[in-house]
Amino acid sequence: MARDKAKRRSLHSNVIVIGLGRFGTSLARELMATGHEVLGVDTDERLVQQLSHELTHTVKADTTDEATLKELGIQEFDAAVVAIGADLEASILTTSLLLQAGVPNVWAKANSKSHGKILEQLGCHHVIFPENEMGKRVAHMVSGQTLDYVPIDNDFVMAKSEVPQSFDGKNLAELKIRSTYGVTVVAVTKGDGKYTPAFPETVLKAGNQIVVAGQVDPLNEFCSLA
Ligand code: ATP
Repeated sequence: MARDKAKRRSLHSNVIVIGLGRFGTSLARELMATGHEVLGVDTDERLVQQLSHELTHTVKADTTDEATLKELGIQEFDAAVVAIGADLEASILTTSLLLQAGVPNVWAKANSKSHGKILEQLGCHHVIFPENEMGKRVAHMVSGQTLDYVPIDNDFVMAKSEVPQSFDGKNLAELKIRSTYGVTVVAVTKGDGKYTPAFPETVLKAGNQIVVAGQVDPLNEFCSLA
């Protein structure tokens, strides 16, 4: 869970990704694609070699060793991601050393509730449950309630939905969506399928996609209108 006190990173930052399994690899690649500098670390030589041409740097190292982490210059990084799941001890030790070194944004992946609890107790700035979160997201899509579903907080979500037939040809001001349904339409698509920000004068067309934000219950209710 994100902690507000942890500072947000700038657009182009230095990130160390520890653990190059499926999650760490995909995350490291995406960070590279969005213009960040990424150091990928793993104890597995094969994974380190495999990603050596895709990331800024890759190193074979055991991050449970304090001296090794110092050698990697961890205090210079804007953010660190601990993408070790199965080896609880390695995940906890690594996270603890990163926090001790003062890395300003430490993200750690948890494979279970208890794993997540320990990471939070250590003071980890962001604990993520990728499988759990993705499972919840897909459930809302499979159930047909929404086209996509992104939890922002425990009780606040953003969802992609369709404009209900009864809204066709009306603008957001006259529909009074916020006061009637307790949700906010954030963006809309026109005939071209591209999203643009929503304004009070934006006219909705039945069947077009919209992005809506709000608390879970009112948002689910709103999306079921479509
Ligand atoms: P995924 O689901 O992302 O494939 P996982 O949850 O199964 O990963 P692990 O297999 O525990 O997670 O760890 C991911 C990677 O972390 C592995 O490639 C492993 O070699 C690496 N790793 C484990 N311990 C350490 C460590 N002490 N230092 C560096 N890398 C480590």
